[in-house]
Amino acid sequence: MLFAYDLDGVLAQAPPKEWFTKPWRHMSGAERMERQAALTSWYRLAPVLLGPDPTEALHVITARKRDQREVTLEWFVEKLPEHRLSTLDMLIESRTLSNVIEHKRMALLGLLSVGVTDFVEDNAAVLRGLAKLGVYQRLHLFSGVGDEMSLFWDPHGAPDKGPAFAAQPRRAQAKSRV
Ligand SMILES: [Mg+2]
Repeated sequence: MLFAYDLDGVLAQAPPKEWFTKPWRHMSGAERMERQAALTSWYRLAPVLLGPDPTEALHVITARKRDQREVTLEWFVEKLPEHRLSTLDMLIESRTLSNVIEHKRMALLGLLSVGVTDFVEDNAAVLRGLAKLGVYQRLHLFSGVGDEMSLFWDPHGAPDKGPAFAAQPRRAQAKSRV
């Protein structure tokens, strides 16, 4: 098994959700600059959540934008110095849910060739999107507590039942509430 990881909310503590209540497109120039500066300092100092196996090459797929690449690379050197960062795949497009899902799907497809079999993510909506589109890796939902994670989707599920959707009931509930 070889894992790939989401970054914010999995390897690094994610910025507070309330920072993102106002959409980027509704922000003034000054507000955007303020948001960028706040994010950069958060990304510099974010505590480590899940510490992956340092003997494995580290493959990271994140919805962070490429303009945060430098501070992100510095974070890895500072916080996970014994790990060998092999992949850091960052988002180019705007950060909509469908763009994030497509970005992660394409990145996982690319990582098949280096043998990545599993992906860990903290956002159930992203995992649902990936499972729906179909990926070749097992998908795990990270709880944010210790190193606890649950299998979300297995493309090699029982042949008679098709792929296993561990979180299917939760999706049904979420839909009925809307
Ligand atoms: Mg995340």
